[in-house]
Amino acid sequence: MVRLRRSMDFVSQHPAIMKGGAGKLGSQLADVYQQLGLAWEFLGLQCLHWDGFRDGADGIKICTICGKVENKDDAWLLLPNNRRRIVGRRLLPSSKKTFSSREMARLLFDSIEFHGAKLRAEVQNAYRSSLLGKERDITIAADRMVRLREGGIECHLDTHTLHLRLAANEPRGRLPFGAFPWELSQTQLKRFPIVLEYDRGGRFVGLTLFRTTRSRSHQTSRATGRSETRQTAAPNSPA
Ligand SMILES: [Zn+2]
Repeated sequence: MVRLRRSMDFVSQHPAIMKGGAGKLGSQLADVYQQLGLAWEFLGLQCLHWDGFRDGADGIKICTICGKVENKDDAWLLLPNNRRRIVGRRLLPSSKKTFSSREMARLLFDSIEFHGAKLRAEVQNAYRSSLLGKERDITIAADRMVRLREGGIECHLDTHTLHLRLAANEPRGRLPFGAFPWELSQTQLKRFPIVLEYDRGGRFVGLTLFRTTRSRSHQTSRATGRSETRQTAAPNSPA
C-alpha cells in the first residue's frame, strides 16, 4: 500500500507531468497515474482500517493505512468469487419516531442484479406523507420491504404481507380483482392452479403456484373488467 502510494508520488513528480503533462510521455505517465489510482482504490477495499483514522485537512479523518476518508461510501464492492458473498447487513426499522419526510425516514434503498434476477431492499422508519394532499397527511408505517423480480414475476415481501404478481398476466392500467379462496366459485377456482399446503395441525405452511402460459381466463377477465375498479370478487362477480 505504501509502495503503491510512493509510486504514485514518483509518477506525479516526474518532470513530464510537472510541466503540465503535455507530450507523449506526459500523457502516458498520466495514464499510469490513473491506473495506479484505480489499483489503490481496489486495494483500499480490502482495508478494514485496523489502525484507526488520523486527522486530515478540513476536519476530515483519514485511515492511516489506506488513506480512505472516514464515513465516506466506497464506489466499488469487493466480493470473493468462490466463497460466501455478503453485501450489507440485515437492517430493520431503527426508531419509534415518525419522521417528517420519506428521505429522513429512509435507512436503505439498494438493488442488485444477480445472474438475471433483480433484487431490491428498502428499509424505512415511519414518516408523514402528504400523498393525499397537505391537509390529509397520512403516516406511512416503518417497514422492511424486499422485492425479487425474475422472468416477468415479482415477489414483494414486507412486514405484513407476501405478494406475488405475474406481471405478464396483468391487465394494463387496471387493478386486478381480489378474493379469498372461499369467496370464489368452484369454476373460478379451477382456473387458478394453486395448491395450498398445510401441516398435520392444520397450519398453513406454504403454497405452490403452477406457472401457465397466457390463459383464456386472463383474456376473459380483461374483457369483463373494463369498467370495474378494484373490488372483492363475490362468488357471482365477473371474472
Ligand atoms: Zn483503511
